[in-house]
Amino acid sequence: MNNSKPGKNIHKKGKLPWYKDGLRFECQRCGNCCRGEPGTVWMNKREIEDTSALLGISPNQFAKENLRVINGRISLLEYDNGDCIMYNDKGCKIYETRPLQCKTFPFWKSNLRNASEWKEQGKTCPGIGKGKLYTVKEIESRLRPELSNL
Ligand code: SF4
Repeated sequence: MNNSKPGKNIHKKGKLPWYKDGLRFECQRCGNCCRGEPGTVWMNKREIEDTSALLGISPNQFAKENLRVINGRISLLEYDNGDCIMYNDKGCKIYETRPLQCKTFPFWKSNLRNASEWKEQGKTCPGIGKGKLYTVKEIESRLRPELSNL
């Protein structure tokens, strides 16, 4: 998890980033980023409330069944195989209220360090290079935010 704030530039002032002409991305809903590898998906209070409402259960019940605490922060549980607990054979069960971390993927600082990182990410994310052309401004407003203080 990086320390960038939403919209904060990750390139040096006055220097255009390598993605100055924008980047194409359109989610293909393949689920590759939701399955297979163990990881953390942070959730904040509002996301928990919105997601509980979407599922028609109380935030407490949602927390009991789907959340864990890691170093004082709240993350979704995952199955033993690394799949997110919110993912089933129909896709993400909570797509409408999915956490910001999911909403901003793949425009994360770690993926935007350079063109090679972006290209590498494209090997597992078939949405990279397709669809809408995001401008630098749009990309940087989606950069993965630091959620630790939410
Ligand atoms: S890996 Fe990429 S295309 Fe597949 S669901 Fe995730 S964001 Fe969408």
